[in-house]
Amino acid sequence: MNIVLFGMPGSGKGTQANFIKIKYNLTHISTGDVFRENIKKNTELGKLARSYIDSGKLVPDELTINLLENKIEENTNSKGYIFDGFPRTIEQGIHLDNFLFKKNLSINLTISLEVDERILINRILKRGVESGRADDQDKMKIRQRFDEYNQKTSILKEYYKEQNKFFSISGQDSINQVKDRLTKLIDKHKND
Ligand code: AMP
Repeated sequence: MNIVLFGMPGSGKGTQANFIKIKYNLTHISTGDVFRENIKKNTELGKLARSYIDSGKLVPDELTINLLENKIEENTNSKGYIFDGFPRTIEQGIHLDNFLFKKNLSINLTISLEVDERILINRILKRGVESGRADDQDKMKIRQRFDEYNQKTSILKEYYKEQNKFFSISGQDSINQVKDRLTKLIDKHKND
């Protein structure tokens, strides 16, 4: 089973992906986490990605797609993947489909966590205090990330709707309530 979790920054993708990976025995791939690890270790990839991430912009497709493919290759024995924060552009979505197809795999469902922008800003600023993430501490950068999502990522909803694989749930309320909604949806559609 392969699932894509969508949602604006702060919508809870990472938190929920951590539950889902355990419940369904999936490999969790978060491109944002991989970029942050590379920045911490000061790798070439980290150096290239840093300026984009710090300014709230998407990292170019070429770098991101490469990273994603490597992560899948490192986990080829997996029972399935939960993609968190990938794809974020149409180009990435097409690449993911083609890459999985070559391995006789496909995306089963994509789920968007919908949260009101004002709630998101509060969540992100709070996370910024706890994590020290530069892109979580500045309202202009947060706005820039929302704009990137609205301009480049949200059109992927149409892409997956055309494939009958798109679902959305409210990502508001408590973490447990969202988890329940999410698992009910996955259980209903996991064999689609
Ligand atoms: P996240 O932790 O998913 O919110 O990602 C943090 C940042 O990493 C984003 O604001 C982007 O700069 C970068 N990033 C993560 N995933 C992608 C992706 N699929 N495409 C481009 N940039 C990404």
